[in-house]
Amino acid sequence: MSNIDQCRNISELNPLCQLLLNKALEEIKVAGINLLVVETYRSQVRQNYLYSIGRTAPGTKVTWTQTSIHTQRNAVDVVPQRKVEGKMTAIWNAKDKETVKIISIMTKYGFEAGANWSTSPDSPHFQIKGVSKTAKSYSLTNTNTYITKMIQRLLNEKINAKLTVDGKWGNATTKAVNKFRAKQGWKEDGKVGVETLKNLVA
Ligand SMILES: [Zn+2]
Repeated sequence: MSNIDQCRNISELNPLCQLLLNKALEEIKVAGINLLVVETYRSQVRQNYLYSIGRTAPGTKVTWTQTSIHTQRNAVDVVPQRKVEGKMTAIWNAKDKETVKIISIMTKYGFEAGANWSTSPDSPHFQIKGVSKTAKSYSLTNTNTYITKMIQRLLNEKINAKLTVDGKWGNATTKAVNKFRAKQGWKEDGKVGVETLKNLVA
């Protein structure tokens, strides 16, 4: 594989992102949608290559940025595919019914949907911004609004934490995380790592 080729391997993503994506993919499958994972991790070399298209290289511009969350192992592009006039076809349309369903499921699992951006919407794109690519847990210092909202909602469901689902990780959220961790017999360190997340989304 050349370093400008597209990578579709989910295991190249950050482990927390992988877990959330796999949960979302399960639910998308149950909804009867045949999903195509278009791209996961992207090397900086490939990002630079894509950026050059329509600028220093011929073609129509395909990206606006040299700093994509794909390079941070926290983004994925997915589209539904189905038979159109007898031929399996990838659907690149944000208004498509199956795309709308995918957006709702991915958002539920903490992904920010590119389709919802007011400037340059990117309908197949989903990301977890602001979290380090090597992160082993979400916490007060390593999260974003979307992830925090998901964690707050799940804590309310699992332990009736009565948190306001506002995406702001404060003391109440840390306390609820610790309460959940204590129930599993784990150290109360205020962190949602892979195992905690697995139990939360189960
Ligand atoms: Zn993307």
